[in-house]
This record gives sequence, C-alpha cells and structure tokens, in this order.
Amino acid sequence: MKEWKSKMKIIRTIAEMQAWSDEKRRSGATIGVIPTMGFLHEGHLSLIDTARKSGADTIVVTIFVNPTQFGPNEDFDKYPRDFERDAKLCEEKQVDAVFAPSAAEMYPADSSTWVIEEKLSRGLCAKTRPTHFRGVTTVVSKLFLATLPHLAVFGQKDGQQARIIKRMVRDLNFPIRIVISPIIREPDGLARSSRNKYLSEQEHRNALSLSRGLNLLKAEIEAGATDLKKLLADLRKSIEASEGIVDYIEAVDAETLEPIERIGGKMMFPVAAYFGKTRLIDNILVEK
Ligand code: AMP
Repeated sequence: MKEWKSKMKIIRTIAEMQAWSDEKRRSGATIGVIPTMGFLHEGHLSLIDTARKSGADTIVVTIFVNPTQFGPNEDFDKYPRDFERDAKLCEEKQVDAVFAPSAAEMYPADSSTWVIEEKLSRGLCAKTRPTHFRGVTTVVSKLFLATLPHLAVFGQKDGQQARIIKRMVRDLNFPIRIVISPIIREPDGLARSSRNKYLSEQEHRNALSLSRGLNLLKAEIEAGATDLKKLLADLRKSIEASEGIVDYIEAVDAETLEPIERIGGKMMFPVAAYFGKTRLIDNILVEK
C-alpha cells in the first residue's frame, strides 16, 4: 500500500471551495461529497467508504450545523460540536478536503431564497418538524454548488431526507449521482447518531426497543405475517413498554414514501420516538 501523506485541506469559504473543486474536476478527478453536521461517528465515516466504492477518488466532507433546518425550540445551540476531532477522523480516512463554512458565509444576512420540495417533505418527520426539510434542501443545494461533486452520499438512517434529496436532484437537474448508504448501528443495535450523546444509560437501553422492534417486524413479514395494522401496533406497544413516546410509526413505499395499505414491494418502516427529551429516528427496509 502506498504511504498516504496528509494533504487534507480545510476550506472555510465558498469561493475557495469552488476553485478547489474546479481544479480537481479539470484534472480528471471524480469528486464525492458527504454532507454532515459534524460530531462524526462510524455512520458518517461509512459514507466515505461508500463514496469510494461508488467511484469517487476525491472525497470532500462538509461539516456545517445548518441553522435553517432546526425549528425554534430545537437543539441548534446545544447540538454537539467538536471540529478538531472531526478533522482528525477525516484525516485518518484520507479525506481530501473538509468544507466547514461559518453560518455567515453560507447565509448572507438578507438571504431570501429557498429550495422547497413539496411532496415527500410533507409527511413523517415534517409533521413535528414543519420547516426542517426546506432547510435541508436549501443547504444541500448550496453545499452542492459550493463543492461541485460528481456524486453525493446520504445515509439510510435519515430515510426520508435521502428520498427528498434524490427527488430534488432529479427535479432540478443537478448533475450529481445520489447514493444511499446503509444504517450503521452500535453493537447493541442502536442506530448511530450524534444525538445518542444526549441519552442517559437507561434511555439508551430503552431506545434499543426501536431496532429490536423493527427487526422483529421484518422477521415477521419474512415469515409470512400479513396483518400490517397489527405489526405496527405491536411495534408501538414494544416502544411504549420501554418508555418511548412515539412520534410516528408508518409503513410507506420505500421510494415514494406514500403510505401503504398492505404488505408487498419495497417497503420502508420509519419510526420516530422520544426517549426522555431526545427524539430518535430509525427505520428498516423490507422487500416482499
Ligand atoms: P448528520 O450529521 O446527522 O446530518 O448526518 C450526515 C449524514 O450521515 C446523513 O446523510 C445521515 O443520514 C448520515 N448518517 C448519520 N447517521 C448514520 C448512521 N448511523 N448510518 C448511516 N448513515 C448515517
């Protein structure tokens, strides 16, 4: 293996990011971008591997806690941040550039343009977070136009978000391939998330009801269960028995996110629930 000497660039401005990517593109590079809000964990790092496997030879990780995707009573101020550690992890993963702009760099004070997807952004998480996805689609568009990638990787962990980004890219003709990468979990099954840091030990244990319940649901479908209502009700019961407050549990088409009435095709079962004050999301894909 050839020795890798770090040349990782940390870029703070849009102009410098565009110039860097432009030069890489001219020299024939295939750029893969991984948009994140930092406080990186194995889930984020797996997206780097997926980008490489998908053909990217030049990796840009963006780290930006995007204020416009947080509601007024959400955790923007206390969202965990540790740039030094993130930069070190990126360096170890041989990332080529980290784009970490300030909020002022990303949003001019009189910024007045939004990118809004109007269909997939209506249900599921949007019910409790009504302005969340316009923040996501706007910032991801801006990050794409700053980093000029050939492909971008998003996690199945945020299943709704990934479908919305795919739809946006298709609808607006972004010349970018979107790749969705599987959910990475802790050894005990909890989906990795920067927000897991908020959980007490007891809440963490209780939150295992999410992955446990979803795995059971999948196993039951694979074993021939057909009563969708009962499967969803059982999942709810098991989460509530572990002191989770369910925000939503749904059965949807894995691409269109339309609710499904009966089992069949490519399905996604997304869940959101509170454990203590922390809202966690998880989902499972099932094909029948
Ligand atoms: P975030 O920093 O939470 O905005 O996440 C940045 C990206 O990492 C998104 O595409 C997420 O879906 C993805 N991601 C976060 N957690 C996981 C995980 N446990 N497994 C896979 N991808 C993840």
